[in-house]
Amino acid sequence: MSVIQLLPEHIANQIAAGEVIQRPASVVKELMENSIDAKATYVQLIIKDAGKTLIQVVDDGDGMTPEDAVKCFQRHATSKLKSADDLFKLQTKGFRGEALASIASIAHVSMRTKQATVETGTLIEVEGNTIRTNEQIVCSKGTSFEVKNLFYNVPARRNFLKSETIEFGHIRDEFERVALAHPEIKFSLHHNGQEIYNLQAGVLRMRVASIFGRNSNERLVPIEEQTNIVSIKGFLGKPDAARKTRGEQFFFVNNRYFKDSYFHHAITKAFDGMISDKHYPSYCIYLEVDPAKIDVNIHPTKTEIKFEEDRFIYSILLSSVRQALGKHNIFPTLDFETETSFDIPSSFRKTEPVEPQIVVDPSFNPFQSSRPSTSSGGNGFTKALKNEGFGQAIPSPGDWENFYQIEEQSSLDDTPTPSLGLHEERESGSYLLHDRYVFSPTKSGLLVIDVKRAKWRILYDELIGRFIHQALDSQQLLFPIEKEVSANELDLWKMHGKLLNQLGFHSTIEADVLSIHGVPAVLPENAIDACIDSLLSDLQDRDIDQGDVAHHLVKRLTQNASKDAVIRRPEEAQALIESLFQCEEHALAPNGKKIMHTLSLTEIQANF
Ligand code: ADP
Ligand code: MG
Repeated sequence: MSVIQLLPEHIANQIAAGEVIQRPASVVKELMENSIDAKATYVQLIIKDAGKTLIQVVDDGDGMTPEDAVKCFQRHATSKLKSADDLFKLQTKGFRGEALASIASIAHVSMRTKQATVETGTLIEVEGNTIRTNEQIVCSKGTSFEVKNLFYNVPARRNFLKSETIEFGHIRDEFERVALAHPEIKFSLHHNGQEIYNLQAGVLRMRVASIFGRNSNERLVPIEEQTNIVSIKGFLGKPDAARKTRGEQFFFVNNRYFKDSYFHHAITKAFDGMISDKHYPSYCIYLEVDPAKIDVNIHPTKTEIKFEEDRFIYSILLSSVRQALGKHNIFPTLDFETETSFDIPSSFRKTEPVEPQIVVDPSFNPFQSSRPSTSSGGNGFTKALKNEGFGQAIPSPGDWENFYQIEEQSSLDDTPTPSLGLHEERESGSYLLHDRYVFSPTKSGLLVIDVKRAKWRILYDELIGRFIHQALDSQQLLFPIEKEVSANELDLWKMHGKLLNQLGFHSTIEADVLSIHGVPAVLPENAIDACIDSLLSDLQDRDIDQGDVAHHLVKRLTQNASKDAVIRRPEEAQALIESLFQCEEHALAPNGKKIMHTLSLTEIQANF
């Protein structure tokens, strides 16, 4: 005799309800989401006794036909999915068709609904999944749900509910999440007759500010990034407005709220050093991702979402939050200019680089005893400096003579910081070139620039910006490089395959041989092998935060690509300096080491 029986429908519904409806706030979420799916432009939420007595959601959406008004309470009844394929291109909040069936199995529900094109609407009253009332009524377009006596038939659940404050807190959270996801919709919330929210339809910033509270508008920093994998928009709270309690942290993907501790980590990391460990950054971040690349169906309430490219998104989030904070000068301002005594006004960095037009004597070599010939001609760099009020132009090689004369003179005079004795009317760039360094006299001494580190910084900034948006150029190799690597290295290479591919490494793996047939175009031929080795060792480095791998790989790639950098001509020196000063961080190489140093006149003097 068979002992297996099919569960009666109402018990199956109650079991499902246990998963979907944990507390009044869950009902709020499901009903509000249904209203949005029904294209409502105004959604009202009315609550009594934190939802224990009444949860009412009124919308002006599409409404339902009398037939659907009955059907919607059946389990797995949905108008939002037609085939399994639709699961991969979800545009709606709901799709499982179990919310209404679940709610109806554990509460008393009455629903009024009417479509725009018909005269009369339908009233349905359900109790324990049994339809008690089904009649035609006069009502306005849209749907109104009243959910009363929640958990009336599940005492364990009802007793499990927390205090009114806590339960209403959850309701408010759900309301805010839905409202934040849809600034184009008007929402209101009333609790026990008191208006809690009345949110007009408007732009995102306005919505975020009204949820984040009074005076929050000034502390919002916009964030925006478009990449081929994800686009990001939203707002961050300025670090000084960070709170000691969690609460203002919102992630949305394709307008659906979700929780994600991994992405949260990316944001916290970007705020590193700006807020104390005891504070939480505020953020409201909206991701747009191809629906086929996320899985919202891993959790009944759909607040946990699986992202196919989560590592990548982590890196992009980290970068764009850093960038957004940087753009708004939120970073603690390190005074690089003072540190290097190279007084480039910050506004210069934003100007377009100017084509260098200097005419210099290429045979000039500071390490030869013969005195260089004078160079002349205007150049964009110095002009830009002058226009910005930088003061005197960079001296020309000819000024060196003056420099020494004045130096001697001034030491006689006992003047502490001698002028270089530059002629205002002369504008020329002057660079002394060495294998590793570029020297350039400035008004306060001698600026020494480490060429490799400067190149590294320039390349890193350029590639990290580009890499976020698109795959880097790859150069196909005539003869693929075959590397015998350990199983672990192979696994790591596979694991980060997408990232490496985006960097320009095109590879195939067969048995334990890694065969590389495309490499980043920026990599000189003689650096390819070493670069791959160092990437492999980086991938094994457990100290590197997994989410930060992309940055490390770009750092390593650009380091390898710049390690043989030399400057052979003054024009190149000029261009190098110009590009360097376009970088936000022009004083330090990606490894944090100094790119330039000014030997002050006093230091020089001390050696004589
Ligand atoms: P799902 O949202 O997953 O489809 P629900 O049980 O939440 O499942 O809703 C079942 C169906 O009832 C929906 O697919 C929709 O057709 C209809 N429905 C529910 N709420 C509304 C509403 N507010 N306005 C119009 N139709 C609704
Ligand atoms: Mg639904």
